[in-house]
Amino acid sequence: MKHVIIGAGVAGITAAKTIKELDRDAKVVVIGDELFLPYKRYLLTEFLCDSIKRDELLFFSVEKLRELGIKLRKGEFAKAIDPSEKVIKLHHNEVMHYDKLLIATGGRPGLGIVLRQYKKHIHFYYSLYDTLILKEKLPEIQKCIVFGDGVSCLDLICMLHNLGKQVTYITKGERATFALEEDDFEGDLHEFLKKKGIKIITEDQIVSIEESDHGYKIETIQQKMLTTDIVFAWDNYKPNISCIDGSEIEKKLGILVNTRLETSEKDNYAAGDCIEIYHPCIKGYWINFGLPNALEQGVIAGKNMSGQDEEYKIQEAIAFNLMGKSLQARWWK
Ligand SMILES: Cc1cc2nc3c(=O)[nH]c(=O)nc-3n(C[C@H](O)[C@H](O)[C@H](O)COP(=O)(O)OP(=O)(O)OC[C@H]3O[C@@H](n4cnc5c(N)ncnc54)[C@H](O)[C@@H]3O)c2cc1C
Repeated sequence: MKHVIIGAGVAGITAAKTIKELDRDAKVVVIGDELFLPYKRYLLTEFLCDSIKRDELLFFSVEKLRELGIKLRKGEFAKAIDPSEKVIKLHHNEVMHYDKLLIATGGRPGLGIVLRQYKKHIHFYYSLYDTLILKEKLPEIQKCIVFGDGVSCLDLICMLHNLGKQVTYITKGERATFALEEDDFEGDLHEFLKKKGIKIITEDQIVSIEESDHGYKIETIQQKMLTTDIVFAWDNYKPNISCIDGSEIEKKLGILVNTRLETSEKDNYAAGDCIEIYHPCIKGYWINFGLPNALEQGVIAGKNMSGQDEEYKIQEAIAFNLMGKSLQARWWK
């Protein structure tokens, strides 16, 4: 039985491990477009702040992959899937057959039509590659502008603040909430961040970014002119599922799966930040971002691909540590 997994993040690698533990003879190939060995993306901030060393980021070593018999093909991108023929096509046009496929391609920050034209001036904060570049630039950076939403945006703001940088946060919303449950802050995360010295500009967004002598000049819809050493910006953080374009696999924003993590196509599974799953409380489909979900789904997808029958139960919240306070993130609210 040949199992192919697209995406060498925690969901994909956990599924690969689960399959090999259940069936030593199964052939497992993981296709990952990043050049690094599988790493713990959720610890990138700790690495950036020197709280952990580079080797502590490692999720799976070469020895462990070898010991389990998992073949990792790094730096290769799956560009298409044909579930009826049970093949995937790689960027260099190699066609690879599978008996069972797992799509675990995660999520990614994305730019809308306005910001897209300034992409070369924007720094992303998603991968180890982004982090290594940022780590090199950090000593020269003092002023930072952050535009975006969600927990990863808040994580970035906290990191920059903790490193003593001057942070301006721009949000389209009336207040900075990051879609979080704010009980621990008596409903006022916005004021908490302001008291910490973060400048917050509300109901605004970036409309242009120009390079200047010592950094960048930013213009906003409200015609504010700002200067900064670095710009972090994204309009959305969404499932990274270009590889299913043109296939019959059903999707909304993410790949639609049932509680067994099966997609609409037989023997095709999906797990982690790339999926959308029915949430019984909101009575709608929900993108299930976050590390604990990706890990658990990796195990369940691996078991089901190996012939078991296990259901994924939705986790409502993830815990988040904000400048020493613990916070519950209920991303579906
Ligand atoms: C800076 C940062 C901090 C975070 N902190 C936390 C935290 O504190 N707590 C928490 O719960 N979550 C956190 N997260 C989110 C967490 O890291 C993700 O939820 C988790 O990594 C999702 O795992 P995944 O395997 O689904 O996807 P990913 O980790 O995104 O892995 C998917 C992999 O697939 C690759 N890929 C995509 N498309 C293709 C393709 N077509 N072909 C080949 N490879 C492909 C991607 O490059 C990537 O390597 C953080 C994320 C970031 C960016």
